Amino acid sequence: MEAIDPVRFLSNRSSGKQGYAIASALAAFGAKVTLVSGPTALNDPANVSTVRVESAREMLEACQSALPADVFIGVAAVADWRPASTAPQKLKLKGQAVVPPLELVENPDILATFAKAGPSRPRLVIGFAAETQEIEGHGEAKRVKKSCDWIVANDVSGDVMGGNHNAVTLISDGVNEVWSHTTKDIIAHKLAAKIADFFA
Ligand code: C5P
Repeated sequence: MEAIDPVRFLSNRSSGKQGYAIASALAAFGAKVTLVSGPTALNDPANVSTVRVESAREMLEACQSALPADVFIGVAAVADWRPASTAPQKLKLKGQAVVPPLELVENPDILATFAKAGPSRPRLVIGFAAETQEIEGHGEAKRVKKSCDWIVANDVSGDVMGGNHNAVTLISDGVNEVWSHTTKDIIAHKLAAKIADFFA
């Protein structure tokens, strides 16, 4: 969520449900989990340390504070852009000769930052790719571009954003696994099981 002024903001339709389900599933597998969450209506999951933030920049900082970690999962629908500046007072309609322009600047890419090679890179870096077309092609392109190990590509053209269900393709290096339409809890459990296998 990116503030325009004290009362207005830019956001999107994501509910956070998939990320919360993954945090819970990993905790059920015995992992020590830090969940860095943007604003959602969801309750903190049990057995997980939840850190609430608002903006992408705060999210990046909170994720960095949670290092070192074996796994990083970038599942939040982070804003790609934020307003170039946040007005300190509510912008007023009265007295404006023209509609105020909304200038945007790019946010840091949290996933790409964590995937970059270096001594603090988690061994397994997983990103999500919300796509509305060419799911696998765009997902693999994103995996390579952001240099992450796995991408969970999902088709968000239906009711995925905000809903309880998801259908995804897990893309690792040259291997695609399709997990067809099911609940976000089941997708989370499958992903947690895959991660546990990776570290077994
Ligand atoms: O490029 P796109 O936003 O579609 O990539 C999606 C992936 O990148 C997701 O895992 C999302 O959490 C991550 N992302 C990020 N920081 C951003 C934008 C996206 O970590 N500013």
